[in-house]
Amino acid sequence: GNGARDRLRIAIQKSGRLAEPARALLTACGLSWRESRDRLFCYGESLPVDLLLVRDDDIPGLIRDGVCDLGVVGRNVLLEQDIALKAGGGSEAFREWRPLGFGGCRLAIAVPETWAWQSQAQLAGTRLATSYPAILRQWLDGQGIAAEVVELSGSVEIAPRLGQADAICDLVSSGATLAANQLKPVMTLLESEAVLAGPSSATSGASGLDQATPRQPAFDGIWDDARAGLAELLLRRLDGVLRMRHSKLLMFQASREAIPSLLPLLPDAEAPTVMQIDGGDGLALQALCHGAVTWQRLEELKRAGARGLLVLPVEGMLA
Ligand code: ATP
Ligand code: MG
Repeated sequence: GNGARDRLRIAIQKSGRLAEPARALLTACGLSWRESRDRLFCYGESLPVDLLLVRDDDIPGLIRDGVCDLGVVGRNVLLEQDIALKAGGGSEAFREWRPLGFGGCRLAIAVPETWAWQSQAQLAGTRLATSYPAILRQWLDGQGIAAEVVELSGSVEIAPRLGQADAICDLVSSGATLAANQLKPVMTLLESEAVLAGPSSATSGASGLDQATPRQPAFDGIWDDARAGLAELLLRRLDGVLRMRHSKLLMFQASREAIPSLLPLLPDAEAPTVMQIDGGDGLALQALCHGAVTWQRLEELKRAGARGLLVLPVEGMLA
């Protein structure tokens, strides 16, 4: 049920591609847990935020039923169940609160390597095997292509060889699995990654998987108990972690004259802090860089007069 609760419950994958990175991300947000003996439930210790460890396919349903408040799941799974739900007459959609930057893959149509591929019109009259029938059906309808969708729960890539289908619609990351089955990707239907999912806010209407912007505090429209505040807190920490994930703190010294040629070399930097070196005539600089701090960039900075370059990882930021 969706009664008043003072603890937030997040569903994550128990084992599989998203399990470890999901936990690592939530840990970076300052959460810690005590695990139950059966490893299905993790009781939040640092904050009243608990984890439920489940199969990824179950995550949207757990959110919809109010058993869990949020979930970490692939956009592919969330969108599939969102479309299927609406096709069944439901209006309450899920909401993608944040893309999380891991579990990247795409949902693509792949055909036998022997096909001379020209356009999607060639799919008319074919049988397409997939574990994502709702997304595929919606795409086919949108393109005006009449094709048969063959739903399979696994081993989709061998369906053409087994004669179950002519082509497939499946997740691709490196393409190695496709190549091993003499298939080639020809169309991308969806770019996917792991997302933080939740119920769609009561106020936003049934507009589907709308991407929430960072400045949209709407959790109090979903929960009128302690969970709204906890979700806000978690989201603020998550934004800090995600933003800092690839950021570095760059420190170095330079003469005053070198500064104008050094500043443009800082990769996507926030306004640097410039300090007078005690007793010397040089300056010490410190800049938070959101762009890639590569060896090549460090060498360019050195040539432009930077001395004692130091690159430090950033663990978090609270703006
Ligand atoms: P579960 O037992 O939880 O149902 P699963 O086998 O359905 O696990 P995984 O294979 O662990 O799921 O994949 C989880 C998610 O990882 C996918 O839904 C997708 O979003 C993402 N992913 C990233 N790369 C790939 C890939 N190459 N193949 C499949 N999924 C991928
Ligand atoms: Mg699954």
